[in-house]
Amino acid sequence: MPPQKDTEDSLYPTALSILNNTFGHSAFRGAQWDIVDHMSQGGDALVLMPTGGGKSLCYQLPGLLRRGTAVVISPLIALMQDQVAALKQLGLAAAALNSSIEGEAVNRLERAFANGELDLLYIAPERLMMARMLELLDQTPIALFAIDEAHCVSQWGHDFRPEYLQLSVLHERFPEVPRIALTATADPQTRQEIITRLKLEKARLFVASFDRPNIRYCIVDKLDARAQLLRFIEEDHPGDSGIVYCLSRRKVDETAHWLATQGVRAIPYHAGMDTASRSKNQMRFQREEGIVVVATIAFGMGIDKPDVRFVAHLDLPKSIEGYYQETGRAGRDGAAADAWMSYGLADVVQQRRMIEQSDAGETFKRVLYTKLDALLGLCESAGCRRVHLLHYFGEVSQACGNCDNCLNPPQTWDATEPVRKALSAIYRTQQRFGAGHLIDVLRGKKTERITQWRHDTLSVYGIGTDIDEATWKTIFRQLVSLGYAKPNHEAYGALELTQSSVAVLNGSQPVSMRRVIAALKKGSKAASSNQSSLTASQTKLLNELKDWRFLQAQEQAVPAYVIFNDATLLQLVTQVPQSFEALSRIVGIGAKKLERYGHAILEIIRTGSQ
Ligand code: ADP
Ligand code: ZN
Repeated sequence: MPPQKDTEDSLYPTALSILNNTFGHSAFRGAQWDIVDHMSQGGDALVLMPTGGGKSLCYQLPGLLRRGTAVVISPLIALMQDQVAALKQLGLAAAALNSSIEGEAVNRLERAFANGELDLLYIAPERLMMARMLELLDQTPIALFAIDEAHCVSQWGHDFRPEYLQLSVLHERFPEVPRIALTATADPQTRQEIITRLKLEKARLFVASFDRPNIRYCIVDKLDARAQLLRFIEEDHPGDSGIVYCLSRRKVDETAHWLATQGVRAIPYHAGMDTASRSKNQMRFQREEGIVVVATIAFGMGIDKPDVRFVAHLDLPKSIEGYYQETGRAGRDGAAADAWMSYGLADVVQQRRMIEQSDAGETFKRVLYTKLDALLGLCESAGCRRVHLLHYFGEVSQACGNCDNCLNPPQTWDATEPVRKALSAIYRTQQRFGAGHLIDVLRGKKTERITQWRHDTLSVYGIGTDIDEATWKTIFRQLVSLGYAKPNHEAYGALELTQSSVAVLNGSQPVSMRRVIAALKKGSKAASSNQSSLTASQTKLLNELKDWRFLQAQEQAVPAYVIFNDATLLQLVTQVPQSFEALSRIVGIGAKKLERYGHAILEIIRTGSQ
């Protein structure tokens, strides 16, 4: 039975009952109810919520509460199709209109829409703008317009879609239909652009907290990046879906290939691949379980997979915004997930070089340097990563207990003496050498280069034998990120002194640094609801449920998470419901899914727990 439409003043009881029975959620999350209430009463809204925050419900539910069909504008066909599949599983009348359907199917769909048979219609922006479609909209009752991924109107953003600019038509042509624009992009410029371009000046703004409590942040010193990554995947995420970000296409290909030879189901994704292989790989990631995509940041907006268990950065991103957006793709289902990054001196040098050598003007370069420095501040911070991240987005918070620094507080040490030695070495070698050679000099090595340049005759030669090579590397990295030295990009990353070096050299400025935790130290596992904390029999049951889910998904040709997501399966194995009543209390099991899958699940639990 379709949910009841209601135009009464207090919608709360009806809304809650749809939330419970249709969507299978026990309570509204964050600002969801306020938004649903506001939309249901015909207001316009701009919603800024992090990925995984639960944006869809903010237009789906008012769409059900209001008379007419909710029209959802969405930029990506693959996304639409999965959303529609998920809504159908909930027993709702949803459909998508885009270039992938043709002929009679289009007519049928349009008729159903015109007859008011649809709860939700997903549509691509270019399709919406067609004269025929606009006429159809004129004649059909519309509950609301939802503009998903609204930051696509931003001409300065990397997801710009020109068709989005035309969406201001909605306001002019259908002034009485409420509009809701949604995005996970937080910065003030984008927000302002959305408001202006979509004419949302009067819309109520809802800004949710950007915290993603289920994501565990961890930034490690880069020693042997590949080995560290493999270890992280094997120990913490065997068989999980994940994304590994690299800076260059070549590194993407090499890393994917190497991981595959190590037994990880890794596939590449970057803009240099032909369109067919690219969409094939994206589809595999979206549909299959346990695929690791190694990608450049070209792999982005099209990903709407809720059960990505980790996002790893093998190279340094450009800014905290970038880092947060990329890591935000992990754990959208609310179950524990990891954001892991390895970072070393070469990353800092490389990012600085890219800015230096870019075509950007001086002002813009300064912006880029500032953003990079903010990210380096996060990397070198000894305090809670989450507090640091949220502070950057203007939120005040408490130490989280779920990041590397909270779980394993790094020690700091007085590095003034070694730093002075390092700066002297830079100075004595005419500021013409990179960290590798400088470390050889400090450690008194006999290399060809040292002999050739007669660096064994310098006063700094061999004054740093008390510190091992790995530690020296982290000292040099921190020197650069703290601004006590800088790479000269015309001289292949040779390190030079800076203004701030002087005070350290003359002894008036002490330097404190993070102590590096022993090489390749095993990371502690992600939060407690993770698969790794299950007992053997729970793991067995989980695997049985996953096998069953896989078959269901195959049969219906939908992604597995559309049947049930990981968080729901985990609840099933930890709570072991024995009745329909108990099943209905599991988050993610609404009336329709209970009816359709309840028997099968109870049967698996019954036989599995024997
Ligand atoms: P977004 O579009 O903001 O990235 P989604 O709308 O895809 O997020 O929701 C992310 C996940 O959170 C989904 O798995 C969804 O089922 C779940 N979710 C949304 N609202 C709630 C709620 N009130 N209670 C529990 N889970 C929710
Ligand atoms: Zn923390």
